[in-house]
Amino acid sequence: MKKTFLTRTFSALIALTMLFTISAVASPALAVSYGNYPLHQLLPMERRPDDPEEIPEGLEIDWNQRYTFAELEGQLAALAKEYPKFSELYSIGTSWQERDLWCLEISNEAVSKDRKTGIGVFANIHGGERESASSAMYMAWWLLLNSEDPYVQGLLDRYVIYVVPVINPDGYEQSFVNNNRPNLRPRDWNGDGVPFSDPYTDIDGDGYIATLYRGKASDTPSTSMAKFGTESPDWDKNGILGDDPRTSGIDMNRTFNYQWNRFDIETENTQVIGNNSWSSAGPDAASEPEIKALQDFLYKTDMDALTTLHTGIQCVLYPWCYRPYDADNPKDEEIPFMKETAAKMAAAFQDYTGRGFYTMSSYEDYPTSSEMIDYAYGRLNIHAYTIEVYNGGKSEDGDISDCKWENTLPEAKWVFYSQQDIKDKLHLDPTALKDSSGKPLAEDEGLWFYTSSTAQMVDKAPENQDIMVKGARDAILTMIESEPHGDGYQRPYYVK
Ligand SMILES: [Zn+2]
Repeated sequence: MKKTFLTRTFSALIALTMLFTISAVASPALAVSYGNYPLHQLLPMERRPDDPEEIPEGLEIDWNQRYTFAELEGQLAALAKEYPKFSELYSIGTSWQERDLWCLEISNEAVSKDRKTGIGVFANIHGGERESASSAMYMAWWLLLNSEDPYVQGLLDRYVIYVVPVINPDGYEQSFVNNNRPNLRPRDWNGDGVPFSDPYTDIDGDGYIATLYRGKASDTPSTSMAKFGTESPDWDKNGILGDDPRTSGIDMNRTFNYQWNRFDIETENTQVIGNNSWSSAGPDAASEPEIKALQDFLYKTDMDALTTLHTGIQCVLYPWCYRPYDADNPKDEEIPFMKETAAKMAAAFQDYTGRGFYTMSSYEDYPTSSEMIDYAYGRLNIHAYTIEVYNGGKSEDGDISDCKWENTLPEAKWVFYSQQDIKDKLHLDPTALKDSSGKPLAEDEGLWFYTSSTAQMVDKAPENQDIMVKGARDAILTMIESEPHGDGYQRPYYVK
């Protein structure tokens, strides 16, 4: 799957031809970039600026706020417009619902790309993990707003940084309604022939989606009561509330074309079967348009290292996801290096934020297959890291080894609706409602609406997200600095 010498030579010839044409006709200054452009000195990370000296109008971003996908698109466009010499914005593909997968390519365009090392920053493959998108957006914003800073100049002369902040834009948008990990490949959950025919919808006007339980007003409500459905006006009029939601059930980080769905009954570790189920890995390897586009992009782009940003824990993970390290396997040659780099990245994150970050191989965290980092390393020999930027909530005693963000989450809410309330306040006929097994409400029963803290966070960024995004920045800078740089594209020595 490596590019052959021939295709590389051919591309170089085309590039040279184009260069001569352009420099002869229009822009002789461009020729400088292929000559002895004096590179800015590469300074150590300690010399990085923390905040930009000034913020151009229209680029003030509140890093403690949650932005819609359309707002992120606006921010990316504004960055590309303000910094044309250091950035280029393009779409590498589209989602099921035709949202663009934007890539902001950041580098000093006065220096030829052939002299640079490629770095990828990818985020939000899981729609609900939106702190990851904010972290990638911050990285792009910080690099560009500091593009005249001596430390950043040294980086931008030597590296091309490809930032794709949202791989799953449909899931990102849906997560303003309910926290949604998958993409939006159409799916017919209730088998009525219409996909997404009963999407979750706020019907009690509190702005959030509740899970519904049957019970009596006198009950002490708990999530161990019998589930009755999910908040919706019963769009499909089948009596079951919210039984055809907008989600594919596919975990796109189990769909890459590398060891796809490799686990079966003969696989030693049976735990993997649950975490990597047939149904969540999509209908085929790279079946999803988002992942197909991403794979194509990785294949045609020179990249030495990449990171994919997530949330849920606070750590840096490295390959493999699908099996343990094997010192005797030549394919594992780079794993000790990635292990060491991951430890430095986690330390940088922890140093900046004061929160705990750990590190391990992704397999040790839990076994999965067809993840992005296994694809990138296994297929394309790219050093690949998963950075998990956020684990909400508080540790018992503020002990950072618990690796929590130490933030306060909203308290879960319980509200009871009697059958009269269901009629008067929710405008539904309580006698027409039933649970998924077809059982209606008993005469003395009503509905308990449970709104979890996660459900109440859908439109909010967690406290101190501004610190989180800067911690992620330092982890990413550590990754960048671990890669070779200098005169000429640094073909990874492990690409044979
Ligand atoms: Zn994730």
